[in-house]
Amino acid sequence: AKRQGRSRMCYFSAELADKAQEYLTIESKLRRALENSELQLYYQPQVDLATGDIVAAEALLRWHSDELGWVSPDRMIPVAEEGGLIIALGRWIIEECCRTIRGYHRSSGNWFPIAVNVSARQFLEPGFTDELVEIVRFYDIPPSLLELELTESMMLDDVGKAIETMKALSFKGFKIALDDFGTGYTSLAYLKQFPVSKLKLDRAFVTDVHRDVNDAAIAEALVTFTRVMGLSLVAEGIEESVQHECLNLMGFRFGQGYLFSRPLPKDQFISLLETKLGV
Ligand code: C2E
Ligand code: CA
Ligand code: CA
Ligand code: CA
Repeated sequence: AKRQGRSRMCYFSAELADKAQEYLTIESKLRRALENSELQLYYQPQVDLATGDIVAAEALLRWHSDELGWVSPDRMIPVAEEGGLIIALGRWIIEECCRTIRGYHRSSGNWFPIAVNVSARQFLEPGFTDELVEIVRFYDIPPSLLELELTESMMLDDVGKAIETMKALSFKGFKIALDDFGTGYTSLAYLKQFPVSKLKLDRAFVTDVHRDVNDAAIAEALVTFTRVMGLSLVAEGIEESVQHECLNLMGFRFGQGYLFSRPLPKDQFISLLETKLGV
C-alpha cells in the first residue's frame, strides 16, 4: 500500500511539473505575443431578441500562436493572472476596445458600446479605476460605452473592497455587468449593494430553457427580478431558435450566442454592424 501511495505521489508531481511547464511555455510566448501584436479581440454581437438589432458587442480575446496554434482565453487568462502579465494584457484589451469604439465613431458618426471581460487580478489591482479613467480620456470616448463584465467569484475574497471599486467605477460613468450569472454564490442581499446595470444569465441555464422546468423557472424569475431592480438582462449562449423564442416569450430583452453570430474579427464585425444598421 505504501509503495502504491508513493508511486501515486510521483504521478501527481509529474503531472504538476507538466502543468508548471505548460504555464511557463504559454507565459513566455504570451508575453512575446503581446509585444509583437499577435493578439486580437473578436467581437460577438448582443442583440435585441424582439427585433434582431445589434445593440452592443462583447470583446473576446483571441491568440493564434505559430507554435501552439489557437490558445483559448480559458487557458491564457489564468496563466497571465498567475505571472502578473494580466496587468499589461488587461490594459491592452481595454485600450483595444477604446480604439474600436473611437474608430467606429470616426467612420460612422455613431457611438457603439462594447463589453469587456475583466479578470479578478486586474479588477483588484489598486489604481484600476484611475487607469480606466485615464484611458477613456486619452481616446476621448464616453466611459458609459465601456461595460465591464465582472463575475461573482471575483467579489468573494473581499466583498467590501469589491463593492467600493464597483462604486468608484460606476461613479466615473463606467457600466458594470455581472457575468455568468447563476453559477456563483452571490446572495440577493449582496446583489442589492452591487452598482451593476446588467446581469448576464449563464449559458448553463439557457441551453435547456425550453425543456427543463427548473431552468425555465429560474429564467422567468430572473426576468421579474431584474425588472423590479431596474437591471437589464442578457441571455448567454443562445444556439437554437427554440431557445430564442422561449426567452423572448419569457420577457428577455437581450441575448447573445452562436444563433445570431459567433465572435468575429473586428473588420467582419464592423461590416455586420453596418449591414444591420443599414449605414
Ligand atoms: P465568457 O465571458 O462567459 O464568454 C462567453 C464565452 O462563450 C466565449 O468563449 C464565447 O465565445 C462563448 N460563446 C458565445 N456564444 C456561444 C454559444 O452560443 N455557444 C457556446 N457554446 N459558446 C458561446 P471564449 O471566447 O472562449 O471565452 C471564454 C472565457 O474566457 C470567457 O467567458 C471569459 O471568462 C474569458 N475571456 C475571454 N476574453 C477575455 C478577455 O479579454 N479578458 C478576460 N479577463 N477574460 C476573457
Ligand atoms: Ca463575458
Ligand atoms: Ca459569460
Ligand atoms: Ca465565463
